[in-house]
Formats: sequence, structure tokens, C-alpha cells
Amino acid sequence: MDMTRWLVRAAGTCPDSPAIAHGASVFQDYRTLAERAARLAAGMAAAGLKPGDRVLVAAANCPQYLEMLYGIWWAGCAPVPANAKLHGAELAYMISHSGARLCLADAKIADAVAAEAPEGLERLVVVGSAGYEALFAGDAAEPHLAGPDEMAWLFYTSGTTGKPKGAMLSHRNLLAMTLAYLTDVDPTAPGDRILHAAPLSHGSGLYAMAHVARFGVNIVPESGGFEPDEIAKLTRHWKNTSMFAAPTMIKRMVASAADHDPGGFRTVIWGGAPMYVADIKQALERFGPVFAQIYGQGETPMTTTLLPRHIVADNTHPRWEERIGSAGHVNPVVCVRTFDEDDRPLPPGEVGEVVVRGETVMLGYWNNPEATAQAMRSGWLHTGDVGSFDDDGFLTLRDRSKDMIISGGSNIYPREVEEVLLTHPQVREVSVIGRPHGDWGEVVVAYVVGEAGDEDLDALCLSRIARFKRPKHYVYVDELPKNNYGKILKTELRARDAERVRRGQGHGDDEC
Ligand code: AMP
Repeated sequence: MDMTRWLVRAAGTCPDSPAIAHGASVFQDYRTLAERAARLAAGMAAAGLKPGDRVLVAAANCPQYLEMLYGIWWAGCAPVPANAKLHGAELAYMISHSGARLCLADAKIADAVAAEAPEGLERLVVVGSAGYEALFAGDAAEPHLAGPDEMAWLFYTSGTTGKPKGAMLSHRNLLAMTLAYLTDVDPTAPGDRILHAAPLSHGSGLYAMAHVARFGVNIVPESGGFEPDEIAKLTRHWKNTSMFAAPTMIKRMVASAADHDPGGFRTVIWGGAPMYVADIKQALERFGPVFAQIYGQGETPMTTTLLPRHIVADNTHPRWEERIGSAGHVNPVVCVRTFDEDDRPLPPGEVGEVVVRGETVMLGYWNNPEATAQAMRSGWLHTGDVGSFDDDGFLTLRDRSKDMIISGGSNIYPREVEEVLLTHPQVREVSVIGRPHGDWGEVVVAYVVGEAGDEDLDALCLSRIARFKRPKHYVYVDELPKNNYGKILKTELRARDAERVRRGQGHGDDEC
């Protein structure tokens, strides 16, 4: 079984049903989507690509996104979907590390990629250009019949080591993830709709397959992203629409004055970061019982635990508040436990690292056997998240992968930002932490030992990493808190930062 089977089936069963919409207009029916995928596969083969090759897709949400994914699968290749907000240097790293010979990029990103001249890249094609259409000019190819353990998605996730790691997801992983979505997260009927306001390179794209399996409509907003007014307009038009959203997106929808149709949403699935109980309650008041939660990570995509709609909505349950504050119960296609430091399972109530085993767990990290062995030790995926189960089997996350910052729904690994700042000659030491923030979840704060100024450091970050990763505040200190081994104590630093904020000293120089 591979990802193209559901598209072949949809094109046979309901060729005229809308597969993709751009805003309120139908962009492609299932016949056209399958035909385009088959032609793109032929074009890629003519360009020299072979089954097993990787293709980087670097595009903001656009109506062509699915024909690219399906065309790549049809050719037996693996897509490497990249976040459109990444810096050219970061995309170039993904290209050379994955060995991608072809990159399909939107016009905005293509220049940034070309400027870096990534090693090994043979062709860079701009989505929608004449060169892109030329890839569809030949006759349709037969779909490659992929084995269940062939790679279907190379998911680059940042690592605490600073360099992104590629989680290899197989067709079997995506199949299990999709079936879990359809049974527990969002039971979906033929023709149901999903609105892709979150990046298709990440969770939203992973949920597109469930809608192809159910002959549904994948709606791509014309803005290509998340605008509360546009979401209200589109759900009023399409009705009964599901959407994957980061908690910050839901907060913005609750705060907006947009006129929402009560029948607009079927299910709004939040995930990727924690959501406060007060925010969930407000969201339920505003939009009704449409919310569900998933907890997962690139290494076990969208699938570890979940809170289905009926549990989020059941405010008569005596432990409702605890439940909606948790990450939910175990997803049916995996086994989840908490382990102590010696990888021994812990009983309910005790806090340990969340580990996962099952059908959605990645094959391993691309070209990184050490990181694979470390993450998959004892036969379990070690998530880096810390939490505990209650007696009913609900998992509460107590902390995140220790130091990761989640700002506006995007993950930021401090080490990556620190490595850039440390290249400045006047920066002696640096430690980057997240500071809690009402709108963004967290903002990035850099504690710097050295004489460099904010402007210099900002310019340095802008030249090397995505804009959203750069610090919002710099605090200059004489020294950083350290333990006896000289290791910087981030927990202590976060506590001191909270104290500074409490005293009203959000920025500036200080002893630390
Ligand atoms: P990524 O691999 O980019 O999808 O990031 C995965 C990480 O985001 C997880 O390991 C968690 O730390 C965090 N995360 C994902 N979903 C949730 C959730 N529902 N609640 C809290 N944290 C989450």
C-alpha cells in the first residue's frame, strides 16, 4: 500500500468531485489531480529522477501543493517538504543533506535557494512557471507501486544539536496516521472538507491524505496562510470544514471580530504546542463543541495521544478540566509509556520521558545512525517530552523537549540561535530561552555575555536563520548561571528571567 492508491481510487470512483479548492473556487477535481500527478511523474522520470530519489518542496501553501506531493509519490520518490519561512541557507542544508537533486519552489523562495547554490542540486523549478508546466507536458506515467517501508516523507525537524534531522516516514507510517485520523481524530464522510490555513509542509499536509482517502475537498486559502477574516469567509462558503491549527491561531480567531457561521467548522484540531485551559474554554464558547487535540512530533507524525471532540466537549465529566488540560489518551495505532532515566516504565502519576512504539514511528533519521540509535533506544522512540499518565490513561505533559521554544506555533531550538550569535566576535557566551507571552506562547530572549549591540546581533540572525527564530529581546549580563561542570543552567536562567519580567525589567543590562 502506498499513498497513490487512494488517489487512484478517488479518480476512479468520483472523477468529477472537487479535490482541491483555491479560496471559494474549485481548482482541480480528482480526475485532474490524478492526471497531473501521473504527468508530473513522467516529467520527473524524463528529467532523470528515479524511485527512491528525494525532491525538496519549498513552497508556501498553494493549490499546486498536492499535485507535487502526489506526483512525487507517483514517481516513487520521497518529498522533502520544507517550511516556507526558512532561510535560504537552511533550505540549502536540507537539499544537500537529503541529497535532493530537484527542488520545486515558489517564486519567493526560489531566489533565496538559488543564491545559496546548494551542493548536489541539479534543477530548481519555480511552481507555476513555464518550466514547471513543461514537467507535465508528456504522457501520463504508471504509478510506482511502493512497498510499505519505502520512504514517503522526509520530515526535517530541528534537533537540540542545532542541525536539523530528517525523520524518515514510510508509506506504512502515513497509512497508519491517516487511519488513526479517520477513526479517532476526525471521522470524515465522502466530500467533507479541510481548510489548509496551517503549513502544508507540516501537519496540515499530513491531514490532506485523509481527505483524499474520503474523496474530500482540500481548501487552500487564497492568502496562502492564516487570516481570521478569510477563514470566516471560507467556512461560511464551504461549511462543515475541518482545520488543523496551532493554539495561537485559535486564540487569534477567538479574539477576531470576524462573523463566523455556526455550521462553518466540523472539527478544529489543535496541536504542536500546549493550549491553556482558559483559552480552550473561550474557544468552546465562541465556536461550540468542534475542538479536538493531537499530540505528536515529526518522528511519530500527529500521532501519540489525542483528545477527541466528544471528550473536549463533555463539560459534565467530573475531571473535565484536567482532561482538557492534558494531551489526551493514547492514539489507537501506538503504544505510549513514560520511562525513567534508565528506560524503566513508570506507573501512573510519576513523571518521566514520553516514549512511543507502533505503526507511525519513523524508520529512523536520514543518514544519522547515531541520532537514530539514541532516539530509538530500547525499541522505543524517545520523544524528549516529559509527562505523566493519570489512572484513566490521560497523559499530561509537564514540560517540553527540555529547552525547545514554541513561538507562534513554530518550534525554535535555542542551540541553533546560539550558534549564530556566538559567531559574533564580541559575543563571549550566550544562552537563549523562551519567555512566556500571552499572544505568541513564548518569545525568544537571548542572554548575552559580551559587548555586541542589539542591531548587530539582529542583522547577524537575519543573515543566517529564519526571521521568526531571532530573539525579540537581548539581555546583557556579566555571567550566566552554571553548574559545577560549567554547564549553563537554563532552568535557573528562565526563573531569573521571570523575576526580571515581574520586576518590569524586560530588557537591558543586568547582573545575572
Ligand atoms: P514537531 O516535530 O515540529 O511536530 O514538534 C513536536 C513537539 O511539539 C513535541 O515533541 C512536543 O514538544 C510539542 N507538541 C506537539 N503537540 C503538542 C501538544 N498537543 N501539546 C503540547 N506540546 C505539543
